[in-house]
Amino acid sequence: MNGDESIAALRRGLLDRRYSAVELTEHSLSRIAANETLNCFITIDPDGALAAAAAADSRIARGEAGPLTGIPLAHKDVFCTRGIRTTCASRMLANFIAPYDATVVSRLAQAGAVCLGKTNMDEFAMGSSNETSWFGPARNPWDSGRAPGGSSGGSAAAVSAGLVPCATGTDTGGSIRQPAAFCGVTGLKPTYGRVSRYGMVAFASSLDQGGAFARDAEDVAALLQVMEGHDPLDSTSTTAEPTAFDGSGSMTIGLPGEYWDDLDADMGAVLEAATRELEAAGHTLKTVSLPHTAAAVPAYYVIASAEASANLSRYDGVRFGYRAESPDNIDDLYRRSRAEGFGAEVKRRILTGTYALSIGYYDAYYLQAQRVRRLIRQDFLDTFDQVDVIAAPVTPGVAFPLGAVTEPVAMYRQDVFTIPASLAGLPAMSLPCGLLEGLPVGLQLIGPHFEEGRVLELGAHYQRRTDWHRQRPHIPLDTDGPREVSDAV
Ligand code: GLN
Repeated sequence: MNGDESIAALRRGLLDRRYSAVELTEHSLSRIAANETLNCFITIDPDGALAAAAAADSRIARGEAGPLTGIPLAHKDVFCTRGIRTTCASRMLANFIAPYDATVVSRLAQAGAVCLGKTNMDEFAMGSSNETSWFGPARNPWDSGRAPGGSSGGSAAAVSAGLVPCATGTDTGGSIRQPAAFCGVTGLKPTYGRVSRYGMVAFASSLDQGGAFARDAEDVAALLQVMEGHDPLDSTSTTAEPTAFDGSGSMTIGLPGEYWDDLDADMGAVLEAATRELEAAGHTLKTVSLPHTAAAVPAYYVIASAEASANLSRYDGVRFGYRAESPDNIDDLYRRSRAEGFGAEVKRRILTGTYALSIGYYDAYYLQAQRVRRLIRQDFLDTFDQVDVIAAPVTPGVAFPLGAVTEPVAMYRQDVFTIPASLAGLPAMSLPCGLLEGLPVGLQLIGPHFEEGRVLELGAHYQRRTDWHRQRPHIPLDTDGPREVSDAV
């Protein structure tokens, strides 16, 4: 084992007794320690992980292994974990220990996964670079001077660096897909409602969706099958049938002009090679149009900020989290707890969101944004009458240097290709499709509602024909630079 195998390969190794779950966990812990400077983790839980691994070994010995028994995993620090702090990368929650597990956490634990700890992220999942984290940014394993993307940057970087084979994330406007693209791993945002939001700290409740990162589409599918499904504790979670994999054969793939026409020439060349590969694999390409695309970013930032302003009102210094010292009175307690507990970007969202919801502006901003959201969704529904899947870029460029994007709106524009599918509630995946100047590029596949199976199958088909998902960055535990990883253990 070298820490770079897929879930499927690790599972074979465990069941064939080539190594134990405890050995696998120790291996993960040593890789995490050797790559501490990547700052992927906010909290590491060696004792809990080793105990869970020992339990996994007993399960294997009894012949009772579940689908993920003994597989190391990390959770984005937005998922509540009983007994381990859940910070959301905020000073506000830096010492918060939830009294319960998120449904995603308990389902993955029941399936046998071993949680190594909680990964770094943008504060309350607001950001595209990890730089809003109270704990400092996670770093991109391909170039530690660059952003891993955000908000789930710690999870993407941890999988990319081979610290863990898989990790959870959440995606409200791109927070799984964009870091997956920047770090060269495979990441899926499922359909809104596919995965329970119970115990996932809320940012924008009509958009938030849990999902997963792994080496390839097959591994992501294995995680989704454990995470998905109705949860009585989240009334918006779906009662739809579980994800089906029906080997859909040849597909028609839509290429929206609004995404492809103005791409940077070098990014365009890498991405077009990926679509040509899909064509060579027997799929049909078709140019389509999603006419309201340009309105997505402004509509998203009104809606997401409005919902955030409501969700974050619960942090008042009384019931949860950070409390300012020696307040003069209750107003002073509220004011200073929030002023000291939240970072600048979170405050910006609360202010703009509150403004958009206030009397006199509600119709002009919030209602208008909801109308735009409806049009964007309709664009997709009309397009899915003509095509099976939509292929698009994930990001306008490769991972940017930390500190390079300082202006808020410039940061918001990083999400131009991921936000529309979020507003429409559609499943979307990022998969590695090339390198540009030595840095990974992601291809986005978007499917109709609850057609994750179609997206994952197309991704797996692409990955059977290419090896971009096997390219790994040079990290401290490696000695000989970027290399190709084989599935052999
Ligand atoms: N970057 C986007 C934002 O800052 C999306 C974040 C997310 O998906 N959580 O809102």
